[in-house]
Amino acid sequence: MNTTLSRRGFLGASALVLAAGLTTRVAQAADDKAGSTNQDASAKRPAWFSSPIKATKLEDDFYVLDGAGGNNAVHFDAEKLFFVDSGIAPRGQDLVTEALKLSPTAQTRILFNTHWHGDHAGGNPAFFKAGFTIVGSTACRVHLGQTIIFEDLPMTSEPSPENSRPVITFDDKIKFHMPSAIAITKIPPAHTDSDAVAYFEKYNILHTGDLFFNGAFPVIDRTTGGSLSGIIAASKTLLTFGDAKTRIIPGHGPLADKAALQRQLDLLNLTYDRLAPLAEQKKTMDEVLALKPLADLDATYGKGFLQSPMFTRMAYGQWLPKK
Ligand SMILES: [Zn+2]
Repeated sequence: MNTTLSRRGFLGASALVLAAGLTTRVAQAADDKAGSTNQDASAKRPAWFSSPIKATKLEDDFYVLDGAGGNNAVHFDAEKLFFVDSGIAPRGQDLVTEALKLSPTAQTRILFNTHWHGDHAGGNPAFFKAGFTIVGSTACRVHLGQTIIFEDLPMTSEPSPENSRPVITFDDKIKFHMPSAIAITKIPPAHTDSDAVAYFEKYNILHTGDLFFNGAFPVIDRTTGGSLSGIIAASKTLLTFGDAKTRIIPGHGPLADKAALQRQLDLLNLTYDRLAPLAEQKKTMDEVLALKPLADLDATYGKGFLQSPMFTRMAYGQWLPKK
């Protein structure tokens, strides 16, 4: 059964569902949305809704903002402002405010969406109202215009307003110079089929969007084209950007380096090696989940959105026929 929630609602519910690692928590998530005081739900409620946005200066004209959904980056001078991702819907305006504190006079304003998910593009309407031109992959624009019923999460994401979808789209690469060179590259389907990354050439900084969850099981959205094999390939591709000193801003988690990204690749390869033989034995999803094939990894990687049961479900999905 699918529960229809607004994009805004999706975020609260999905974070709770993901935190719990159980789809059966949707009812509780819905209660939480309605203002329930359920202790367990509130304990797991992400801080995105209320926490202050933390700004970390990497360079005089480059900051990472954290606390309103996926990690944001901002690169600016007095005339130009380039912003990566827009957070969850209720925090979009807070991010705009932070951006304009850094460059109050910038007239040329670009918002780049790494992908369509509501914790990265949910705040788009606030950015549109503040005069930002929104840029994203073609698939990002398409999905932001769709009603999407999630395969692994019993909920539906509603379309964004038309004026808050990317008005400039690309399918391969696009480059900005605001203020220094920013190379955007579309990545083949991995976390979703809409993922793109931003490489800031001057500072050797890579923003990966959700192709990289630093220190946690990554989300794989197979409803819109994500897959375990896709995110393995993407992790390998990302390792080729820059050099050994590249600073990496993950979609979620603390600022990272190549070693941390390599650890994600190791985790994904291990996952593949454990699940592929089960697929060869034609095991069903329920049979695989009953085996708890990744349970031992929870202690290290299960402290983020996902615990091993949901991650196993998302990863094993690629071997099953799509519904
Ligand atoms: Zn995502």
